[in-house]
Amino acid sequence: AKVAGKSCYRFYSRAMDQAVERRVRMEQDLRGAWDRGELSLAYQPIYRLGDGQLVGAEALLRWHHPEQGSIAPSVFIDVAEQSGLIETIGPEVLRVACNDAVRWHTQFNRGKELFVSVNVSPRQLRSGELPDQVATVLRDTGLPASQLHIELTETAVIGDEVHASALLARLRSTGVKVWLDDFGTGFSGLSHLRRVPVDGVKIDRSFVSDVLRDPDDLALTTAIIAMAHSLGITVIAEGVEKEGQYAILRERGCDLAQGYWIGHPVNVQEFCGLLA
Ligand code: C2E
Ligand code: CA
Ligand code: CA
Ligand code: CA
Repeated sequence: AKVAGKSCYRFYSRAMDQAVERRVRMEQDLRGAWDRGELSLAYQPIYRLGDGQLVGAEALLRWHHPEQGSIAPSVFIDVAEQSGLIETIGPEVLRVACNDAVRWHTQFNRGKELFVSVNVSPRQLRSGELPDQVATVLRDTGLPASQLHIELTETAVIGDEVHASALLARLRSTGVKVWLDDFGTGFSGLSHLRRVPVDGVKIDRSFVSDVLRDPDDLALTTAIIAMAHSLGITVIAEGVEKEGQYAILRERGCDLAQGYWIGHPVNVQEFCGLLA
């Protein structure tokens, strides 16, 4: 038993070494990825449920690794977050997204009022530099502040609500809109919305995917919409994959929606194709 235990330990330790090694390697590769042109943004269209109009797009980071092909953001964003690389990648994302949005406004009739929505990680928020970065990028690109939306996850603001609320207030004073992403998953409860100043909430995909078959998820979604509206907060549903989900969300008064049923994330050229 002793021997088995020992080899077992060696096995796990080797597997762990490999995992650590992979992470370190990924971090090194990610470091120069912008400069080598491996990172880009995809845009997923966002529609208004009332009239079906295209109103904006969410910017989603893509990494095309020269050997490994495309790597999921859920994997490399985590590495960027933990290594601190997000503090250089984040501002780049902001800049590219705002530049692209300005082009939609100036080049396309149908692009005149579109907003662009940018994901910001907890670490970027906590660094405290975000409000200044946002102000700078708006000034440099000329994008109207109201056309930039910042998406923060619930977890970024939970825990340290006083600090987070102050940062959000500073952020909103630049004129940008702040959205709470993955809403409903953090168990923060709806009462949270009264204390944290946001313009919108994104109902998490896990609720949206079940609105047709789980009465609890439909009830919760309906309650989020009603509560948010009573506080003057806009509601968007993400992960709409079926016509029936779209229909029921629209019937319940949800404001905006995005998802594979309405539009996949596409590269910037393809997105411009939607506007032409
Ligand atoms: P998220 O912010 O919740 O983004 C939505 C994710 O859902 C995206 O995955 C999108 O491609 C996917 N999606 C959209 N519609 C549907 C649908 O109908 N069904 C399903 N099953 N999925 C759908 P993606 O692009 O892989 O991004 C994953 C996560 O990585 C994002 O989740 C976000 O947290 C993070 N992320 C992406 N880009 C950035 C970025 O520029 N900065 C930061 N900090 N995080 C980012
Ligand atoms: Ca998001
Ligand atoms: Ca989300
Ligand atoms: Ca469920």
